[in-house]
Amino acid sequence: KAKANGRNQYVIFADSMSEQQQRRLQIANAIDQALIENEFFIVYQAKVSPTKGAIAMEALLRWKSPTLGFISPAEFIPIAEQSGKITDLTTWLINNGFQTLKQNKALANCIISFNLSTFDILKPSFLNSLIDKIHQYEISPNLLEFEITESIYMENFILANLFIKEIKALGCHIALDDFGTGYSSLSYLTQVSADTLKIDQSFIHNLQRSDKDRQIVEAIIRLAKTLNLTVCAEGVETDAQYLILKQAGCDFIQGYLFSKPLESHLISDQINKINQQLNLYTIN
Ligand code: C2E
Ligand code: MG
Ligand code: MG
Ligand code: MG
Repeated sequence: KAKANGRNQYVIFADSMSEQQQRRLQIANAIDQALIENEFFIVYQAKVSPTKGAIAMEALLRWKSPTLGFISPAEFIPIAEQSGKITDLTTWLINNGFQTLKQNKALANCIISFNLSTFDILKPSFLNSLIDKIHQYEISPNLLEFEITESIYMENFILANLFIKEIKALGCHIALDDFGTGYSSLSYLTQVSADTLKIDQSFIHNLQRSDKDRQIVEAIIRLAKTLNLTVCAEGVETDAQYLILKQAGCDFIQGYLFSKPLESHLISDQINKINQQLNLYTIN
């Protein structure tokens, strides 16, 4: 039908392009006001150590707009980056996250990671205000981790390393997010000053079914061990995936199997639940 209506199809395509552009513009324009109106909030997702339990959490941004509805970070983060608003968002994230850490005992005892964007880490002013805030809120630096996507890191290797060096000098940790999707050269990897590799969830989905994916994941875990890095698998949804990863020596497991990202007031109960769930694995 599309072929028979070649011309119409072209018109529909052009329309949908402008609709997409309109939505992007709408979202970009709504961000400033949403920050003022407090439409953003943070959810926390456990990273579970098979031996130590739910000792780490990733902070993930959420946005519920009264006019646009729920907007996924997968949609608004790239728009915030392209419209120059991402560091405002990250600053909100850090302020709000640090405040919550001061108020919530369960979270205060975990290693908490925050996702940073390339634009944040390339701004010296961001680094300075981050350091100030860590001091101001009296957060133990060794309980803080910052996640940077592998591709961003590799594209800005020298500048990114400057940021990482300063952050690590404070005692904070660095994780390479979405690892395996960013075409890292192995020679770079020996110079990487990260502490953790986070295996992208695309490798985890077919772990039980695909020998290839299983071998890739096991190879990444061995590589991480060789380089003295911690390794975390994301997007773990099934017992079978968990058992393969645990067997391979994966240090942290993150995914719906243990917990969806939750608001901070639910974290204390969730940690208890996860630790009970882990007990069942060791008994059976
Ligand atoms: P990410 O940092 O790699 O986060 C993992 C994403 O996978 C999260 O989606 C999380 O909710 C989702 N996830 C966790 N477990 C499972 C699972 O078992 N199955 C499936 N299918 N998905 C799972 P989310 O929260 O929608 O975030 C998407 C991406 O948006 C993040 O990927 C991150 O790159 C970005 N993002 C989220 N929050 C922030 C933020 O505060 N700052 C920045 N710069 N980026 C953020
Ligand atoms: Mg992340
Ligand atoms: Mg990730
Ligand atoms: Mg990801």
